[in-house]
Amino acid sequence: MLLCYIYSNYISHNCFLLEPQNLLILGSTGSIGTQTLEIVKQHPNRFRVYGLTAHKNWKLLARQINIYKPKFAILTDGVSVNNLRELINHNETQLLEDNDSLTRIVEHEAVDVVVNSLVGFSGFLPTYFALKAGKKVALANKESLVVGGELLSEYNNENGKPQNLLPIDSEHSAILQCLAGESEKSIEKLIITASGGPFRSWDIRDMEYITVDDALDHPNWDMGSKITIDSATMMNKGLEIIEAHWLFNIPLERIEAVVHPQSIIHSMVTFTDGSTKAQMGLPDMMIPIQYALSWPDRWDLNVPRQDWAKLQQLTFESVDYSRFPCMRLAIETLKEGGHAPAILNAANEVAVNRFLNHEITYIQIAKIIEKSLENITSRETLSISSLENIDSETRNFAKNITFKSLQT
Ligand code: NDP
Ligand code: MG
Repeated sequence: MLLCYIYSNYISHNCFLLEPQNLLILGSTGSIGTQTLEIVKQHPNRFRVYGLTAHKNWKLLARQINIYKPKFAILTDGVSVNNLRELINHNETQLLEDNDSLTRIVEHEAVDVVVNSLVGFSGFLPTYFALKAGKKVALANKESLVVGGELLSEYNNENGKPQNLLPIDSEHSAILQCLAGESEKSIEKLIITASGGPFRSWDIRDMEYITVDDALDHPNWDMGSKITIDSATMMNKGLEIIEAHWLFNIPLERIEAVVHPQSIIHSMVTFTDGSTKAQMGLPDMMIPIQYALSWPDRWDLNVPRQDWAKLQQLTFESVDYSRFPCMRLAIETLKEGGHAPAILNAANEVAVNRFLNHEITYIQIAKIIEKSLENITSRETLSISSLENIDSETRNFAKNITFKSLQT
C-alpha cells in the first residue's frame, strides 16, 4: 500500500523519473529571464541551467553564474566581460562575449530547451537557428514572429498545434490553454485582451504632454522598459496580433483585440458552436513562462491565487485606434506582408529608444514609424539576409528623422 502511494506520487511529480532538461536562457538578466530562473528554483529536478546570456548587466549575470553554474555564459555588448570574469567564484563556466555566439549556442547538441527572453530584433536569429536545429523554444521575444513570422512558420504549427515553438506571452499562452483538447477547425475567433495601458482613458489633447515616467508606469504589469512603452502606445497589442497570426495560423479577420482593464482574462477563443473559453488568473508572468516549459502538462507553481469572491468586475471596451495609431500601423503591416512588419518593428525599436532618451515625444513615436513605412521598401525576396538588411536600413532612417521633419 505504502509502496503504491510512493510510486504514484513519483509518477505524479515526475521529478525522480525524468532526466533534467538542459535549459539555455537568452536574456537571463531581464524581466522574463529572471522569472524563468525563479521557476527553475521551484523545480530543481526538472532543469539544469546549461547557458545564460546578458547584454550589459554583467553584475547580475555574475550572480546568476555563481548560483546556477552553467556550462556557458555570454555577454553580448562585448565590453564588460573582464569585469564579469573577476566576479565569478568558480571555473565551471565558459565565458563568451560576442553576438554571434548567441546563434551558435542555440544549436549546441546538449541544449534541450531555449528560453528566448531577448528584446527586439536581437531575438530573431536565435529563434530561427534554434528551431532549425530542432530545439524546443519557449518564446517571449514576440519580435521574432513580427519580423520573421513567415520564415519561422515552417518550423511552427502542425494542424493548429504547436510543435517546438511555445509562447510565453500571456495572451498567446492563454489561447494555447483554451485550445487544449480542441480541434483547429472548430476555432472561430481569437480574442486578445489588452489592459489599455496607462493612457487608456486619457483625452487625446493631453497625450501631447505624456512624459517618460508616465509611460513607464504600467497599471498591471512590471516589465522591461521596451515592452512597457509598447504597452503605453498599444503597439504591443499590434505586435501580439501579428504574433498570434503566425503562431496559431489564423487569418487577421479572425483575430480581435478587446480592452479589458483588469488584466484577469488573459485572452479567449470563440468556437464554431458559439462557446467562448477564457483563461484567467492574476497578472503574473510566472504562469505563462512555466506553461511554455511544461506544455502539454501542467506543473505545480507557487504564485499568489486570485480571490474570486473579492473580484468585483470584469469589464471590456473597444480599442480606440485614433488615440493609439501604433496599433493600427501594426495591423496594416500584417495586411501588407513581406518586409513591412520588419520595417515597423525596427522603426518602433528606434522610436521607443529615442523616447526613453527624451529625444522625441510620445506622439512622435507613431510619426517615426509612419514615416519609415512610407519611405523604406525592399525589393529583395524575403530571407534572413533581406530581413537583416531592411532592419539596419530602417534603423538608420528612423534615427535620423528630425523633430522638424516630424511636424510636417
Ligand atoms: P528586459 O529588457 O527586461 O530584458 C531583456 C534581456 O535581453 C536582458 O537580459 C538584456 O540584457 C538582453 N538584451 C537586451 N538587448 C540585447 C541585445 N541587443 N542583444 C542581446 N541581448 C540583449 O525585457 P523583458 O524581459 O521585459 O522582455 C523580453 C521579451 O519578452 C520582449 O520581447 C518582450 O516583448 C517579451 N515579453 C515580456 C513580458 C514581460 O512581462 N516582461 C511579457 C510578455 C512578453 P541586459 O540586462 O544585460 O541589458
Ligand atoms: Mg502580452
